[in-house]
Amino acid sequence: MKRFWQNLTVMNKSTLIILVSVFLMAFGNRAFFSNIFEVYPLNLDNAAFVISLAVVFGAALVVILSLVCYRYTTKPVLITILMLSSFAAYFMDSYNTVIDTDMLRNVAQTNVSEASDLMSGTLVMYVILLGILPSLFVYRVQLKTGTVRRDILSTVKLASISLGVGVLIVVVFSSFYASFIREHKILRYYANPSFYLVSTFKFASSAIESSSLPFTMIAEDAQASQAKRPRELIIMVVGETARADRFSLNGYERETNPELAKHNVISFSDFWSCGTSTALSVPCIFSVYGQSDFDQKKAEATENALDILARTGVNVLWLDNNSDSKGVADRVTYRDFKTPENNPDCNDGECRDTGMLADLQQYIDAHPSGDILIVLHQMGNHGPAYYKRYPKAFEKYTPVCQTNQLEDCSKETISNAYDNATLYTDFFLSKVIDELRRHTDEFETGLFYLSDHGESLGEFDVYLHGLPMFIAPEAQRHVPAVMWFSDNFPGVDEKALRASKDRTMNQDWVFHTLLGLFDVRTDVYQPKLDILNVPGATMLEQLAAKQDQ
Ligand SMILES: [Zn+2]
Repeated sequence: MKRFWQNLTVMNKSTLIILVSVFLMAFGNRAFFSNIFEVYPLNLDNAAFVISLAVVFGAALVVILSLVCYRYTTKPVLITILMLSSFAAYFMDSYNTVIDTDMLRNVAQTNVSEASDLMSGTLVMYVILLGILPSLFVYRVQLKTGTVRRDILSTVKLASISLGVGVLIVVVFSSFYASFIREHKILRYYANPSFYLVSTFKFASSAIESSSLPFTMIAEDAQASQAKRPRELIIMVVGETARADRFSLNGYERETNPELAKHNVISFSDFWSCGTSTALSVPCIFSVYGQSDFDQKKAEATENALDILARTGVNVLWLDNNSDSKGVADRVTYRDFKTPENNPDCNDGECRDTGMLADLQQYIDAHPSGDILIVLHQMGNHGPAYYKRYPKAFEKYTPVCQTNQLEDCSKETISNAYDNATLYTDFFLSKVIDELRRHTDEFETGLFYLSDHGESLGEFDVYLHGLPMFIAPEAQRHVPAVMWFSDNFPGVDEKALRASKDRTMNQDWVFHTLLGLFDVRTDVYQPKLDILNVPGATMLEQLAAKQDQ
């Protein structure tokens, strides 16, 4: 028996690579094949195509692996790929999400508490069955090695035969593959591990490329207006994972904004995000580059709205109860509120957004001259553990999904937990307004709240966020945006602003709105992208007429 087992585990590199590839195609690709079956329902024609797809992707994997596995690298490479693929399979199967470069950037920037939110029994099972057990097998295998020349020859043989098989199949099924490549690009994104390997390569090469980007100053002509006026105190809240259609201010049937409704706020109903992840949206919000022109690395190497405001004399403070500022606040004062040492409002392992308000008075007192901009980066509705995002007193909608494994919960209980978290954000924002109201004697005060991106709550069986923009559903892109101003704010025509609240806007507007809000003069400023630069009466009438049609 022992001998039999030994014989079974003695093999050459090519056999091992083929075994690992077959294993991954067969067990690590549930999301890939279930998405395929949605587009190509199972019948005789399609069955042959789907089998051929498995062979083509398997062959491609064999080619890639044969090129990176050489003698001593073989086992470490295969074990790494098995382990990573077990994680990828779990997230794709459970959340129908894809591992593209943006997702990798999110993973790279995720902190411990966010990661622990994603831990679950099912994840552990995936890692054991798809990662650890096959890795143990690979580890135990005795690899037969020959001379260097023979090893190279066998690698070339394996790679070229696999390539040949792949190409031949694509040619035989060419009409299927033409439609697959042209019209169903998205399906490829679910192929495990090929897609995340390609993404990793792209991510790494863009990181190397950008590290050489020089830092660029913009708006060097920027100057604060000399006009005499009271000081301004603006609080900008960067929200997390909130959906426009889950705000009762925008017509949601559940009363999720009872507190904000008591204040005289303006809710912009048609506001769209720049990306579908924190890592992308947050820098984009403050960047001079619009969505169409946005590139994370380019933005990181360029001054943003906060830099320009700070340069013109505005006191800028960033408080963070999320992950971090994603590079936005690198050159302004930054304080972390994710730990009990700084955040006085932490219990049950969760630090609340309201804790960020504790330091405001001290900061305001310490800055007796100049305008003040305080950015509060919320934990908000961060998933999948929505039930952790609010204190028990805010559990108005029940029953709630009490796990981070959304697939184990009904859509209703997920929605309940999510709406309760929105209720808590509503409470938090009203506390911010209360804080601002206390300062209306010394300052013109205002609140600007905006979520970074939305969230899928099971529509089309998609959960969470982070899908590439061109396939992301509205739920991940349509965000709530709310403003409030004190009565003494002369620069704001509140009536006109309210009348224009249904204009289509996106996060490109924030950069220019911030400059406009603090009266900064620069050629970079575009008035047509300033939310507060409300169209004149005629234009408003035209808008109204358009809506009546
Ligand atoms: Zn986010």
